[in-house]
Amino acid sequence: MKTFSYHSPKDVKEASKLASTSSAFLAGGMTSIPSMKLGMATYKDVIDLKKIKKLSGIKVSSKAVTIGATTKHAEVAASKEVQKAIPALAKLAGNIGDAQVRNKGTIGGSISNNDPSACYPSACMALNAVIHTSDRKIEASKFFKGMFETALKKGEIVEAVEFEIPEKADYQKHPNPASRYAIVGVFVAKHKKEVNVAVTGAKSCVYIDKDLSKKLSSDFSSSVIEGIELDDSEMNSDMHASAEYRANLVSLYAKKAVEAC
Ligand SMILES: Cc1cc2nc3c(=O)[nH]c(=O)nc-3n(C[C@H](O)[C@H](O)[C@H](O)COP(=O)(O)OP(=O)(O)OC[C@H]3O[C@@H](n4cnc5c(N)ncnc54)[C@H](O)[C@@H]3O)c2cc1C
Repeated sequence: MKTFSYHSPKDVKEASKLASTSSAFLAGGMTSIPSMKLGMATYKDVIDLKKIKKLSGIKVSSKAVTIGATTKHAEVAASKEVQKAIPALAKLAGNIGDAQVRNKGTIGGSISNNDPSACYPSACMALNAVIHTSDRKIEASKFFKGMFETALKKGEIVEAVEFEIPEKADYQKHPNPASRYAIVGVFVAKHKKEVNVAVTGAKSCVYIDKDLSKKLSSDFSSSVIEGIELDDSEMNSDMHASAEYRANLVSLYAKKAVEAC
């Protein structure tokens, strides 16, 4: 690992001021530290966000669950309030990686990194999340731009993620047997006016399957998914699963999620 200057600001303003083209924010370090150790990323300044109190914690209202950026996956999984308001979100957090990852990894780090196989981006998309940053509020549909790419500008800090509480929801994933990242993960959320089916792991970036969402919006029953053949032309194909297999997993897990709602 190359040498760098470590900073531990106490507030968001100070953290933003320290940011430059050769800096990185540090949350749980679950992605950033291995990348630095392997020489895949080098920074002049590492800005630790953990001491910024404002960034941590969970707030639940009648309409939304708002989770601070440095809140760890284990905290979301164990939160009685999240379990009550959006049980699928607590379940998703409780099935991320292993115990160490869940006790270090954060929601802000997960969505800022936007790994194509990460679980939280699918919850953000299905639950019409709004990403609160140091500069603005961004709808999830405009936040996730592409593989490891988001709408965040240099120095912009994710402060919290606000999830709309749905009528029903469930998350199903086919985990990579080693890392537990999603080979395919499907988050189904039934809201008052529409159903959102968000998919992670299948393509280069999380997306809403419009066809499945439309069918389930008019009839929220797993039978409407029966026999659907999804287009696999843009799906990932690798040693873990072919594009054809991934397409099959998407409809299978969408069906399972609807049945579990
Ligand atoms: C072995 C292993 C298994 C995993 N399994 C899963 C899984 O099953 N499902 C899943 O979804 N994820 C999985 N992950 C990812 C994990 O959940 C972490 O969320 C992810 O690695 C990001 O780590 P972090 O939160 O510690 O952020 P860091 O590693 O500290 O940061 C990641 C990136 O985000 C930036 N960043 C961090 N916080 C902010 C912020 N508030 N604002 C702006 N930028 C920010 C950093 O600068 C950096 O570029 C796994 C990771 C590992 C190592």
